[in-house]
Amino acid sequence: MFDFLSQKFSSIFSVLSGKKILDEPSVDEALSQVKEALLSADVPYDLVEQFTRSIKEETAGKKLIGSLKPSEQLLKIVHDKLLAFLGGKENQLFAPERSSVIMVMGLQGSGKTTTIAKLAYQLKKRAEKSNKKLRILVGSVDFYRPAAVDQLEIVAQQAQADFYRAQASDPVAAAQELYCRFKDERYDYLLLDTAGRLHIDNKMLQELKSIDSELQPQHKLLVLDAMTGQESLAVAKAFDQAIGFQAAILSKTDSDTRGGAAFSFRYALKKPIIFIGTGEKVEDLDQFHAERVAGRMLGMGDIQSLIERADEKIKASEQERMSRSFEQGQMTLEDFAQQMDMVNRMGSLSSLMKYMPGMGNAQVSSETIEQGQVEMSRFRAIISSMTRKERLYPRLLNPSRRNRVAHGAGVGAQEVDKLLFRFDQMQQYAKLIRKSGGFRQFFK
Ligand code: GDP
Repeated sequence: MFDFLSQKFSSIFSVLSGKKILDEPSVDEALSQVKEALLSADVPYDLVEQFTRSIKEETAGKKLIGSLKPSEQLLKIVHDKLLAFLGGKENQLFAPERSSVIMVMGLQGSGKTTTIAKLAYQLKKRAEKSNKKLRILVGSVDFYRPAAVDQLEIVAQQAQADFYRAQASDPVAAAQELYCRFKDERYDYLLLDTAGRLHIDNKMLQELKSIDSELQPQHKLLVLDAMTGQESLAVAKAFDQAIGFQAAILSKTDSDTRGGAAFSFRYALKKPIIFIGTGEKVEDLDQFHAERVAGRMLGMGDIQSLIERADEKIKASEQERMSRSFEQGQMTLEDFAQQMDMVNRMGSLSSLMKYMPGMGNAQVSSETIEQGQVEMSRFRAIISSMTRKERLYPRLLNPSRRNRVAHGAGVGAQEVDKLLFRFDQMQQYAKLIRKSGGFRQFFK
């Protein structure tokens, strides 16, 4: 989602990088481009104006700070303003108290049902980290969209949450039924999926109001589709006026959207975004960190998110062993294969690239990434048709062994050579890193 703005911003700052001083004409020129970038990301005009005005005020009469170059200085000012716009450094951790009802609202198709499963999964996982087991009940009062209730039942299963199908066909009565179940069975949370329409309408809001006053949920969350841009602000305002909600979850941030909704929501609604949906799967929900999003929008990379993602999916010991053999230059083809599996578990190559500093924008084309992904699975197949000895001692791979391995993996012999060449490059690289003070220095 942040690619569009990060590409725009990085080209603005690269124009400035040749300048020696941050003079007014160059600031104005840069700001008019920032304005253009935000408008084409579907940010409302008045917000764009406020944003650029605040940057202009900050730059007026600024002396160069320390050794910062003009482009870096402007980048810092834009970053700080952007951070303030997105909600500042404070992150809102969604930590609902036990025995509470969480009502999830949003337009049809915004991602409510999927998000409920993601939320249940996230709450459960978080509790498991401190050795607690949560019992979560999910239920739906969306009787308008065919199969909405069945869909919730399926995704609830993926999140290992309990699902209950209300017998009543009236949404308010069904909500009460679900509430009784939740209380009787002493669940920790009830996650309530509500009906959405394609557009805001009064009947829908009225129905939500009735459910709200009957159940008095402790938490009300709005799911907003990141792809809807400015329109999502109007939706959020209508829900806020009619029912009220505490925070939003921005879904589909992995889609080809320009990031306008993320940019505008906090400032326009004065409420936090607590999570972002990053895919269709149950685990694709990330905590919203304004600082990281600001960094991503400005193409500064997001090493912290990457590390967190890696930590979650890879056991620490495995990581430790890997970085040790990498540092000591003792990698074998088995390590190489394991490393490719690690990348697979962390997500696709393309999703990982977004987190790397300088890789967030268009430096690497999607075809290159796709090729990398195909190459990785081919390498994986080649390594699995080797004997263990060959994996540990690749030097043993003489032409006849190479042919055997290629045949086993269903590839040409030149693919085996390519793998060995890559592996050799990797070892050279590992040696270089070892000489320059070790792998961990990159994460300091
Ligand atoms: P609802 O009508 O509001 O309940 O929306 P759904 O949960 O049925 O979601 C509508 C579509 O959006 C489904 O195809 C979901 O798989 C998809 N979806 C939901 N969240 C995300 C997300 O974060 N990323 C992507 N790529 N798709 C999502």
